[in-house]
Amino acid sequence: MVKAVRGMRDILPNQARRWDLVEQTLTRVLQQHAYEAIRLPLLEFTELFARGVGEATDIVEKEMYTLADRDGDSLSLRPEGTASSVRMLQEYGLLYNQTQRVYYAGPMFRYEKPQKGRYRQFYQIGAEAYGFVGPDIDAELIGLAWACWQALGIESMVNLEINTLGSSEARQRYRKALVDFLTPKSEQLDEDSRRRLTTNPMRILDSKNPATQALLNEAPKLPDFVDAQSLEHYAGLKQLLAAMQIPYRENPNLVRGLDYYTHTVFEWVTQDLGSQGAVCAGGRYDGLVERLGGRSTPGVGFAIGLDRVVLLHELAQANVEAEDRSADVYLCVTHPECNGAALVVANSLRAALPTLRVRQHMGGGNLKKQLKKADASGAVVAILIDDESLDQQTLTIKHLRDAGLGQETVTFEAGIARLQQH
Ligand code: ATP
Ligand code: MG
Repeated sequence: MVKAVRGMRDILPNQARRWDLVEQTLTRVLQQHAYEAIRLPLLEFTELFARGVGEATDIVEKEMYTLADRDGDSLSLRPEGTASSVRMLQEYGLLYNQTQRVYYAGPMFRYEKPQKGRYRQFYQIGAEAYGFVGPDIDAELIGLAWACWQALGIESMVNLEINTLGSSEARQRYRKALVDFLTPKSEQLDEDSRRRLTTNPMRILDSKNPATQALLNEAPKLPDFVDAQSLEHYAGLKQLLAAMQIPYRENPNLVRGLDYYTHTVFEWVTQDLGSQGAVCAGGRYDGLVERLGGRSTPGVGFAIGLDRVVLLHELAQANVEAEDRSADVYLCVTHPECNGAALVVANSLRAALPTLRVRQHMGGGNLKKQLKKADASGAVVAILIDDESLDQQTLTIKHLRDAGLGQETVTFEAGIARLQQH
């Protein structure tokens, strides 16, 4: 037997029900905020991510699935959605003289060490807004994520952390100060951090290594380098979060792994998933569009890690799997010749009762056996199709969950009205 590739997830039917529920809930919240759906390709030129995510990031350095196309082009499976969304909007002139609020959803690919909450194919839902400079849109996006947690009933399990990186000049100044401070002490750093000192020094702030963290206590602090205009933006954001009554914690060490962030960065973190603590991450990336070859355009957005949100939802509401009904109505036939009639009646029922799941018995067998299957399906009623059902436009309904109701033969219309009550 060929097995699944390590880290590529299978979502089984009983899990998919929860996934559907979570995705539908998040999509509804995004639409309520008037964000518009876009769909992005799974494959892009590798160069898009090298430029858009940054050469010195973990993602581009060691996590991408890169392959040569048959004509020799270097392509990569998308590790995230922001670079693609900028590429697409730019390519169709949709960033020029206009604003955009969009969202995307789907699988992303990163070559990481698989564990609970961390996979090589994982799922994100991301929202992006382009063309807005003020902190109001930052606040709207954070509020949008908050509305998602509330809609899923997991708001008590996540905490918001925010920070500002300042303008890109301020960020550069800080970067230099940090490198100047750490370079003479580099032998005290953990191995990853030592490597980052030359590639992506601000990522060192993220290090979990205690010795590195101790050293960082003495290091120059990012907030001391942030420019006045950024601080004003940040103050504006904090005021709006307070107005929306969204609790947050300022974390001066929050820098995010991607190169392109400026000003606001934020993360929603949880204590409930071990070391896979981040469930949503985002911020402002005013330099990104230009970096990808477009005109300078402000941008801000976030990506929700769906796999981790589904795990939290499982902790918060265990009962979705317990509900194992796979059908609401189960059609049986009294004779094999009635199969054709049953197919027709099943479709009439689906048309009349679009929210119910109508399953038809397949593979024959006596009525007793069919009713056993009907019972196992979790259906509330079985419909028994006989010679007369189609001609007479009647439905014979057998109530499976309430023995007192027994069995009745009624007109199609009366039957529909009956089924609507379920
Ligand atoms: P982490 O620090 O957990 O690796 P990240 O900073 O690499 O996260 P982002 O690139 O910001 O993650 O992606 C946004 C969200 O996508 C994360 O907060 C997380 O919920 C989710 N995510 C990222 N990588 C994975 C993965 N390999 N498996 C499952 N979810 C992931
Ligand atoms: Mg990562």
